[in-house]
Amino acid sequence: MSERQPLVAANWKMNGTLASMKPLVDAIKTGLEGSDVEVAICAPYVYLPELSQRLQGSGIATGAQNVSEHESGAYTGEISTTMLNEFNCHYIIVGHSERRSLYGESDAMVAEKFAQVQSAAMLPILCIGEHLAEREAGITEEVVARQLDAVLEKVGIGAFSQAVIAYEPVWAIGTGLTATKDQAQEVHAFIRQRLGEQDSTIAASIRLLYGGSVKADNANDLFSMTDVDGGLIGGASLKAEDFLAICHATR
Ligand code: PEP
Repeated sequence: MSERQPLVAANWKMNGTLASMKPLVDAIKTGLEGSDVEVAICAPYVYLPELSQRLQGSGIATGAQNVSEHESGAYTGEISTTMLNEFNCHYIIVGHSERRSLYGESDAMVAEKFAQVQSAAMLPILCIGEHLAEREAGITEEVVARQLDAVLEKVGIGAFSQAVIAYEPVWAIGTGLTATKDQAQEVHAFIRQRLGEQDSTIAASIRLLYGGSVKADNANDLFSMTDVDGGLIGGASLKAEDFLAICHATR
């Protein structure tokens, strides 16, 4: 872990109930008292009012898992950045692989969402990562570069001073397969180097999270790598004990 402030972000996905999220949040709050790790919880939209209220004064940030690329208007079922702002959202995940593959989000749409989040003064957590077939074909860097460049071309390198990137190999998400610490480091270093070609200060300061079956027992290893600045945590963020162990592994 570098001098960059580590961040651990929970991605609850479409899990839980109002009744189950309350004790989970309270346990996470209690477990993080006195800790200086930065933590965010990205919850389903409908839980955001309750979540942001419960997190008040805790230092834990509220986050969302998606947002519309449009500002407002006739987009039935969508949620805008303005609406998320009303519930103190600080982080918004954009381009999660489940959004890309299940809901057809293109690189261009993800770039639009990234820009929209920033125009509303919130921080995008941009997810990028390759599918298994792409890794096996030896084109991981090509894929990650394409996803990154789509955003860079839309918003410019300067915008990355107010953003977080999560490298999430799709084959490791929810599968129990984790990238080795060396595989993670290799791609993180590539991302930092690619950003560094345009701005070395931004490249050095941006936080690069790893996501993909991070658990209490592999978090230490992953977070020990130079260019891994924390994690985006799915399944393991649904149990306070597991999530807290991961948060504490950033020390
Ligand atoms: C995710 O959904 O971003 C994720 C990393 O999930 P999991 O930790 O369950 O692999």
